Amino acid sequence: MAQKTVLRKPKGFIDVYKYKPGEEKDRTHYCPGCGHGIIHKLIAEALEDFDIVEKSIVISPVGCSVFAYYYFDTGNLQVAHGRAPAVGTAVSRANPDSVVISYQGDGDLAAIGGNNILQAANRGENMVVVFVNNAIYGMTGGQMAPTTLTGQKTTTTPYGRNPVTDGYPLQMCELISQLTAPVYVTRTSLHDMPGIRKARAAIRKGIQNAMDRKGFSFVEVLSMCPSGWKMEPVQAQDWIRDRMLERFPTGTFRDSSDEAVRIERPVPVMDPEKVKEILGYESLKTSNLKKNPNALFNKVALRVAGFGGQGIMSTGIALANVGMEYGYKVSWLPSYGPEMRGGTANCSVKVQEETIGAAECTEPNMVIAMNQPSLEKFERILVPDGVLMYNSTLIEVEPTRKDLRVYPIPVTGMADALGDTRVQSMVNVGAFAAITGMFDPGEISGLMSSLFGGKSEKVIQLNEEAVRKGYDYVRENFS
Ligand code: SF4
Repeated sequence: MAQKTVLRKPKGFIDVYKYKPGEEKDRTHYCPGCGHGIIHKLIAEALEDFDIVEKSIVISPVGCSVFAYYYFDTGNLQVAHGRAPAVGTAVSRANPDSVVISYQGDGDLAAIGGNNILQAANRGENMVVVFVNNAIYGMTGGQMAPTTLTGQKTTTTPYGRNPVTDGYPLQMCELISQLTAPVYVTRTSLHDMPGIRKARAAIRKGIQNAMDRKGFSFVEVLSMCPSGWKMEPVQAQDWIRDRMLERFPTGTFRDSSDEAVRIERPVPVMDPEKVKEILGYESLKTSNLKKNPNALFNKVALRVAGFGGQGIMSTGIALANVGMEYGYKVSWLPSYGPEMRGGTANCSVKVQEETIGAAECTEPNMVIAMNQPSLEKFERILVPDGVLMYNSTLIEVEPTRKDLRVYPIPVTGMADALGDTRVQSMVNVGAFAAITGMFDPGEISGLMSSLFGGKSEKVIQLNEEAVRKGYDYVRENFS
């Protein structure tokens, strides 16, 4: 007898959750009784029934559903906190045939992403936003969210949310329905089966609108967070019914889906040649510098670190620029401490033959440490046999690791001897050139007018001299 499948996973889901780490590839990461699983299923069923798995892009937020991409067999993007509607805008504009589903929780959508959602709704971007409202920050341990109820206890409102100090719970459907552009704005709830059926219908209508390019649909779903609320799953459903519905009544706030006409927007031209033209790429001056075939390195992942004001960023920028002139692929990524001045700063610099993926150097093969805290911090992340160059004028301790190539160089002292501490960055550039063999100091001098465009001849000469000092010091002391 032929086997009849009664229950099965909708085809909107990946059959085996292969992207999920660990052994349990057959279940989600959500807590027992969490509403996310139900909402995911309603979406996945719709994707299958509408036959749009292939053309759909699900945008995952930051929050408990950050890993939604483990589950949906669609195109997936995981984006920065609150930015799903902005990324959704880009996707739907660049590829109008795609069906964009922006999946967001209350912290992501109504707090940090509050402006993003309002602007996307106001533009009538073609997407459906599924807004999961569980009145709390679940992932981070149950803090107050914008939708936390008055009087509700959370880890940050242990005596209950007090409107005098914490404001009132934000009603996003009510807010968004004040705008002109949205076509469909509705609130549903998972507190019982009729509620789940209504959520199913609402999600389908929003997805249908996105398929028909009718613009912006907003489907709020009141959802259980048993862990954050410290309740049993059934209690959590009852709590939605007894407490949440009063502040967040279900119902449809706007529905012009039937009358809405298909929106046709100009599709941006993504012609690489045109982009180069707009950026003035062709007119960029390129030098004829040749890479040194005998260089010790042809791939550097460098971290430069020190106090603000020690030329950290300018060292990185100069090295990236010089590397570019030699025809290397380069990147420079700054990272500042919270202080405005005098705090710690570091930057990642990559100089290599191949195309660069991530710009951050998490496992550098070279570190330039300009002060002691930087040496202590970044020595640890150097790869074995990596190069540790440090400013011996200010750092009196020895590095602890024995598996590194160590270059103590009195960078500040040499810059001071030249009469200007600010040229420390160029001493670094010269030392780098000598250690790696990648650049020639004479050729760097030839680039000075472009590195220091607009500066006086005196400044340029001083910096040339600093490069030469750093270079010579390494050659004389470490060869
Ligand atoms: S913390 Fe809450 S929202 Fe997050 S997975 Fe657990 S139950 Fe779901």
